[in-house]
Amino acid sequence: MGDKKLREGLNIRFKLWYIYIKPRMKNKVNIKKICKICQKEFIPNKFHPHQEVCLNPLCQHKRELINQRKWREANPDYFKYKEKKSLWEQKRAKYLELWRKTHKDYFKLLRQKKSANKS
Ligand SMILES: [Zn+2]
Repeated sequence: MGDKKLREGLNIRFKLWYIYIKPRMKNKVNIKKICKICQKEFIPNKFHPHQEVCLNPLCQHKRELINQRKWREANPDYFKYKEKKSLWEQKRAKYLELWRKTHKDYFKLLRQKKSANKS
């Protein structure tokens, strides 16, 4: 009895897969797209169905450049790291100064330990 039910369940699953999923899989594999850059037809990689540029290295290079430009437009401050670094260093210097002032005993101990090691 249980076996029959199981087989029916499997049958239904297979039918569902056959009716709904298989044709869509076929369509996805066979869909041809037009490259955004060279305007030629290509079949996208089945693992990257949303690919918009063909595999021609020239097109890929152009796509990278476009992506980089977009990214730079979205993150305009990213390549100003020199200014950022100096700001960060300023903050860090202030922080270290404060830390040294509040932890004077630590340096005393350190010096004592060093001199103890030497002798
Ligand atoms: Zn192309």
